[in-house]
Amino acid sequence: MKVPFLDLRAQYESIKQEVWQAIQAVLDSTAFAGGPFVERFEQQFAAFCGCKYAVGVGNGTDALWLAMLGLGIGPGDEVITVPNSFIATAEAISLTGARPVFVDVQEDTFNMDPQLLEAAINDKTRAIIPVHLYGQCADMDPILEIARRHDLYVIEDACQAHGATYKGRPAGSMGIAGCFSFYPGKNLGAYGEAGAVVTNDADLAARIRMLRDHGQRQKYYHAVIGWNARMDGIQGAILSVKLRHVPQWNQARRRHARLYSQLLSGIEGVVTPTEADYGEHVYHIYCVQIRDRDGLIRALAARDIHCGIHYPVPIHLQDAYKELGLGPGRFVVAERLASRIVSLPMYAELTEKQIQYVAEQVRIAVEEAQVA
Ligand SMILES: *Cc1c(COP(=O)(O)O)cnc(C)c1O
Repeated sequence: MKVPFLDLRAQYESIKQEVWQAIQAVLDSTAFAGGPFVERFEQQFAAFCGCKYAVGVGNGTDALWLAMLGLGIGPGDEVITVPNSFIATAEAISLTGARPVFVDVQEDTFNMDPQLLEAAINDKTRAIIPVHLYGQCADMDPILEIARRHDLYVIEDACQAHGATYKGRPAGSMGIAGCFSFYPGKNLGAYGEAGAVVTNDADLAARIRMLRDHGQRQKYYHAVIGWNARMDGIQGAILSVKLRHVPQWNQARRRHARLYSQLLSGIEGVVTPTEADYGEHVYHIYCVQIRDRDGLIRALAARDIHCGIHYPVPIHLQDAYKELGLGPGRFVVAERLASRIVSLPMYAELTEKQIQYVAEQVRIAVEEAQVA
């Protein structure tokens, strides 16, 4: 049985009709860059996140970068985040001219450890970017409380957490800004590149709107130096269609995760993900830990089961960040996780049979290949 890591085609087949109608409407109106289809999606997505405003941008990296620029973060500043994110979180900080500073993560949720946060704050610190990794919110209350005490912005990297909640609050709605990616493989994915910033701050929303469109307030009158980070009309229209299905897709992911954990929990040496009781995890990634991660991936690939690693090298150990001078041993939890994690196939359309097959093959690999 073949089990791909992700099956975008299966989802597309289930919504093909709606998607083609949406694309047709954009073509008929020629609203290709920005425009009414993007505006409609912005309103829908703001409501989905429980926020007043959403600003559609080119991708998730733009969302992070423009949120920081909109808050006036730049050279000389420091921004705190985690080392076990996708590199874009750190890149966006670097591209503002600020310096990324890392704090280690919790063993169980893989998210920012609030107890380590205060030690990383100094008088250059301007913002904290917790990452809601794999679809589970970071423990936001202590992070928000520390930020309040030190007068720092909290920007949520919610690029993997569309629809996740923390104590009933939607991901993206808790900080001054929430940043989302609609990269095709995300829980809400475009058919191309797209992203958004959500916020309740009218001034910040207005500044990001200006920055994404060459700093113009009015066509060809440029108040500040911005960039072209607009969302495509076609992506806006497709995202409006797909947003309607996200709650149901997220519920399917949660069901799949429960079944995986139930089937895998009896296997010696396999650590299944922890769902914190403070919120709802939306399982962008279903990640297990095991001693011989590479051995497990090889054994599963031989049975046509395809896995991922998110991410094999923590950001502070990437060549791109050599200049920070942070060698191995600085963030021991993130480093240990990086060597043990495997992302199993996860998408809404996965079948129970496929999940059972994956779990069974993990058990066989543990017994025969001794990967645990
Ligand atoms: C996907 C992702 C991003 C970047 O989003 P793009 O749309 O690919 O630019 C940033 N942070 C995290 C945690 C992500 O998963």
